Amino acid sequence: MTGPAAHYPVCIVGAGPTGLTTANLLGQAGVRALLIERNPTTVQQPRAVSIDDEALRTIQAAGLIDAFIPRVALDYGSHYLSASGRCFARVEPTTREFGYPRRNAFRQPELEATLRDGLSRFPHIETAFEHTVEDFDQDDHGVRLRVRKPDGSIVEVACDFLAGCDGGRSMVRQTLGIEMVGSSYNERWLIIDLEGTRDTYRQTRVYCDPRQPGINLPGPDRTRRFEFMLDPDETEEAVLDPENIRRLLETHGPDADATIRRAQVYAFHARTAETWSRGRVHLLGDAAHLTPPFAGQGMNSGLRDAANFAWKAAAVIKGDLGPALLDSYQVERRPHAWALIEMAVMLGRVMMPRSPARAWLTQLGFRVLGLSRRAQAYIAEMKYKPKPRFAEGFLVPDGRPAGRTLVGRLFPQPRVETADRRTMLLDDALGGGFCLLAFAADPEVAFAALDRAALAKMGIGTMCITPRSRNVGGGEGAAVRDVDGDAAAAFAGYEDDLLLLRPDRYVAAALPAGDPDAMLKTIEGLFASTWRAGA
Ligand SMILES: Cc1cc2nc3c(=O)[nH]c(=O)nc-3n(C[C@H](O)[C@H](O)[C@H](O)COP(=O)(O)OP(=O)(O)OC[C@H]3O[C@@H](n4cnc5c(N)ncnc54)[C@H](O)[C@@H]3O)c2cc1C
Repeated sequence: MTGPAAHYPVCIVGAGPTGLTTANLLGQAGVRALLIERNPTTVQQPRAVSIDDEALRTIQAAGLIDAFIPRVALDYGSHYLSASGRCFARVEPTTREFGYPRRNAFRQPELEATLRDGLSRFPHIETAFEHTVEDFDQDDHGVRLRVRKPDGSIVEVACDFLAGCDGGRSMVRQTLGIEMVGSSYNERWLIIDLEGTRDTYRQTRVYCDPRQPGINLPGPDRTRRFEFMLDPDETEEAVLDPENIRRLLETHGPDADATIRRAQVYAFHARTAETWSRGRVHLLGDAAHLTPPFAGQGMNSGLRDAANFAWKAAAVIKGDLGPALLDSYQVERRPHAWALIEMAVMLGRVMMPRSPARAWLTQLGFRVLGLSRRAQAYIAEMKYKPKPRFAEGFLVPDGRPAGRTLVGRLFPQPRVETADRRTMLLDDALGGGFCLLAFAADPEVAFAALDRAALAKMGIGTMCITPRSRNVGGGEGAAVRDVDGDAAAAFAGYEDDLLLLRPDRYVAAALPAGDPDAMLKTIEGLFASTWRAGA
């Protein structure tokens, strides 16, 4: 590139998974943006190895799922083993609630390469690798960045909004003077990445052994990751000694001779930024939250941030919604990210018993839980994982209790069939943007009383899902059939409502279908709230 142009609606600092995903989503939304990365290329070293269903749905929204999925080992679980090697708990989720298996193995460098390649689809997304953001300032009108070019000179760039996706040591966060807060959790782990594994065990094994707690994770293409927790008195030098690594591999399966791609000691934290947004600058990904690795959620949370931030930034930049919409970014994302950090810390306690007595007690607890089918399913299906659900933000609460309302939840992604008999995931049928979703036998009747022109003016489309037993004919407007009955289950208790889905597929409102005037007023009120200061 010859050098960045003077002004962009959005500048993104950092081309890790969070920044790259944000750039792709803005690309899809047609928003001009500049992505600035200090390194010459995306990450080459192994980092994250576990990607969840929500993150895969975001890659789908970025239009890259077909390119990425061949690089993912889909659908694997975790077995928790006692010190004697006995499996005392199994996590093997079977749900495809959001369109994909809940636990999947991948390699972060491959995801980043896919995301980087994906940017070439968008002439309006520019990248500046080997460029470092040195500092910035902001006022009511915009943000000005000072960027160091590869030749050492400084160039100034201006933007309306800055996305700080610059990782755990975030310069953006530090420049804003924002502290990280949270627990005092601070553990060191030895991470060993192998190639050419001989171990055919499919599931992740978690060694809940107080003498040497560890995790053994299979990856795609015969890769394998070991993670071992270190004692405070173990030195980095001693644990990285090749002898020590071979000894650990020998005692954990048939991989003593596998190729060691990398061995490194990492310190993990459980923290979040005290605030994620200040003025026109927003923190995303590791810049906003740091999580221990047990739940494999650090990057996944970053992709959730990208999915939440990108459509809001796009709507504000296009003038479709007011600037106060971006206030809802941290209101929605911060509590959920923290809930996942707490889950990781909780899992850590199970995985890393500090004494044989504690290990015995924990495992006894699981044995007792195993007597109840419900408790067994709770663990196996990962129901302890905090649901993608917002209590407040850009939504209209419907007064139902938190556990029962659909409002604020990520809507499931069932398989649907189009009029020409193609089967696809719901989001592919919906496309981008807001959508009023109905579940009804007759699509014409479902939307008959609605002022569709008024909805179209607000950028809201309509879609009707017909029951499994009812084919979709031609000429009925946008309609698809519920292939597996999952849409019917998702609408349980809301059969008489239309659901307003946001572009990130969270439910913004549940609106009684019988009162179209009230429905329109509610939506207009929600949209208008984004133009009010402090909304
Ligand atoms: C060993 C290990 C295992 C992990 N396992 C998992 C897992 O299984 N699942 C999971 O979800 N997460 C996992 N994580 C966490 C995951 O890797 C991180 O959460 C993820 O990389 C964060 O992405 P990010 O884009 O927010 O930040 P980063 O990946 O840190 O990217 C930030 C980017 O910003 C750039 N940058 C920084 N400052 C500047 C500047 N001033 N100017 C320009 N560019 C700048 C950096 O060079 C970097 O490329 C793991 C992490 C580690 C270390």
